[in-house]
Amino acid sequence: MLASDEIAKRLREVRERIAQAAKRSARPPDAIRLVLASKTQPPDAIRAAYLAGARDFGENYVQEAASKRAELADLSEATWHFIGHLQSNKTRLAVRIFDIIQTLDTARLADAIARARPSPPMRVLIEVNVGGEASKSGIAADDVESLIAATRDRVEIAGLMTIPPPSESAAAARRYFAELRMLRERLAARSGLALSELSMGMTEDFEVAIEEGATLVRVGRAVFGERPK
Ligand SMILES: *Cc1c(COP(=O)(O)O)cnc(C)c1O
Repeated sequence: MLASDEIAKRLREVRERIAQAAKRSARPPDAIRLVLASKTQPPDAIRAAYLAGARDFGENYVQEAASKRAELADLSEATWHFIGHLQSNKTRLAVRIFDIIQTLDTARLADAIARARPSPPMRVLIEVNVGGEASKSGIAADDVESLIAATRDRVEIAGLMTIPPPSESAAAARRYFAELRMLRERLAARSGLALSELSMGMTEDFEVAIEEGATLVRVGRAVFGERPK
């Protein structure tokens, strides 16, 4: 892992870039929350970021997150986001250790989540596949409205999330981010839900995502360096 002061320095740089991107798009910088994607990073890397002011962490693997959280139980102000693919048999543990599940993409998974955590309902984002064929995960944009209708009574749907297909440049990702923003506007109007969160943008393209309306950016390598295998 990188030295703690290097993590702190990189965190400051990313925050500054977030502030600049917010300014360019006439958005208040505090409308954007930085979620540090900490998968495969050791607990000490997370602790270093926390001590430097980070509060939101995103993990992809339930078991890994559970053992890290046990080691980091003293980080009382941390918010934990699940950003990986959730298997139904991990749902019970997931609803215990995460504050929000960003990757809901089937009614079946919503059922499992609601059974594991009937009340208060689990806070979730719907993961949308805005890249069509090229994206591996998420529900098709056309199917999100019916997923909302089928699950809104059982989970708290706070907004949308996407992982666009890999593109050669941040500029190429812009249209996917814009697509998610417009989908959110349509669905908020039609469902009457606020759907206030838009989770999009990673190390390579978070500034473009902010310009397109991201409220949550998920950044790993820009802060932690390359991931240990
Ligand atoms: C790993 C991961 C990220 C962060 O990726 P970086 O390129 O390291 O910034 C963001 N979102 C998801 C869903 C991830 O799995």
